[in-house]
Amino acid sequence: MTSERRDGGLPPKGSRRRAYVETYGCQMNISDGELMAGVLETGGYEIVEFPEDADVVLVNTCAIRENAERRVLGRVGQLQNLRRERPDLVIGVTGCMAQRMGEDLLDRAGGVDLVMGPDGYRSLAERLGELEEARRGREREAAQGTRLSVLSLDPAENYEGLEQRRTSSVAAWIPIQRGCDHRCTFCIVPYVRGPEKNRSPRDVLDEVRRIADGGTTEITLLGQTVNSWNADGWAFPRLLREVARVPGIRRVRFTSPHPNDVGPELVEVMATEPAVCEQLHLPAQSGNDRTLKRMVRRYSVDTFLEKVQMVRAALPDIALSTDIIVAFPGETEEEFQDTLELMRMVRFDEAYTYRYSPREGTPATRLPEEQFIPEAEGQARLQALIDLARGIQAEINRSEVGRIEEVLVERDARGEGQVLGKTRRGKMVAFPGDRSMVGSYRTVRLDETTGATFRGTLMETAAAAGAAVGVGGE
Ligand code: SF4
Repeated sequence: MTSERRDGGLPPKGSRRRAYVETYGCQMNISDGELMAGVLETGGYEIVEFPEDADVVLVNTCAIRENAERRVLGRVGQLQNLRRERPDLVIGVTGCMAQRMGEDLLDRAGGVDLVMGPDGYRSLAERLGELEEARRGREREAAQGTRLSVLSLDPAENYEGLEQRRTSSVAAWIPIQRGCDHRCTFCIVPYVRGPEKNRSPRDVLDEVRRIADGGTTEITLLGQTVNSWNADGWAFPRLLREVARVPGIRRVRFTSPHPNDVGPELVEVMATEPAVCEQLHLPAQSGNDRTLKRMVRRYSVDTFLEKVQMVRAALPDIALSTDIIVAFPGETEEEFQDTLELMRMVRFDEAYTYRYSPREGTPATRLPEEQFIPEAEGQARLQALIDLARGIQAEINRSEVGRIEEVLVERDARGEGQVLGKTRRGKMVAFPGDRSMVGSYRTVRLDETTGATFRGTLMETAAAAGAAVGVGGE
């Protein structure tokens, strides 16, 4: 994430401390960035849009791939230029990479003042206050030596009761679960986010009601294996049903489910609750049983296909997406071909594709060295997968041209006089409109596709469009 400041001057003097949070990585991390901003605001900080305006800059990081970490180190190095102008600037690194690298980060990329893992955010404002207090009154060089690390994982921390500072009022992401109880051998998440921790249904439903009262009509429930959520004797399907019935909520999504926890009860709720959208992200990771076993995914290709069949039998129009990793250590060419075959069989609407990236501390990194697939070969497999996945996506989307869809307008599109919105099935559509439409539901005909997204035509007359604006508050 980058931003451009509107002017080049130094921040205005004032007693209220100003903080800037810059987030990298997955939706859970984006949500954590909003949580941190909420904690800081409650703690008396003003949240600013540009690092140049801030007294405290926090880089909220991802550890899922080596590239993401390299990018963050580069960004922290860049921020040192700001500190040269203002030696009292506090630079912090938070999130999964902070947890993974720990105190080693304090001396990397020109120096960091604070490292904080994903379970430390509740005390963020307080700890920053302590850090700044400890620095006050000290000589400048000595003050720069005052640094802080908050790295313990807390098996009870689910951030219940804290408010996120949401950047969008159109659609809200609601974390209901943190951490993960699985141990997929390629994945760093359980080591940097700890075991699964679930929020209580009452806390989640209270938040959904508050969000709906504020006028937001679409929500996405968020968790590492969101459908394994359970708390106070409730299982995920019951929570999904109750959330879908909150007055004012018109669309509900959830991500990312684990295939093993997709069962008849969940599918029944998806098929019968009108607010639950016809969209499901189902991470397959591989299309080969031996690889799945070595990844410790705990399902076979057949079981995965049965889940797909069960979902499609109940929701024939559902849009399915997936995650796939290629070149997992030891994956043979034939095994990779099985993954391509799975893609052809299921025909996902969208696939997020990755080449295996070794993460220190995960079991897969301890596999014999000769099993690691040379970069060029891994890249070639990834490209073949991308080509296939894009081709299938484009074919599916071309077959949808002409459909009339309900679109929730999210923001201005790049083209002038265009807005961008999402269908219930999660497809992005650009069509003529202006900013006043943001947050409203519109009826749009899909006219053409770029392969991944659509261009459309607004189907309403002016009078009908006016009526459509208020539809969200049922
Ligand atoms: S289910 Fe597996 S891939 Fe997903 S977060 Fe947990 S360990 Fe990682």
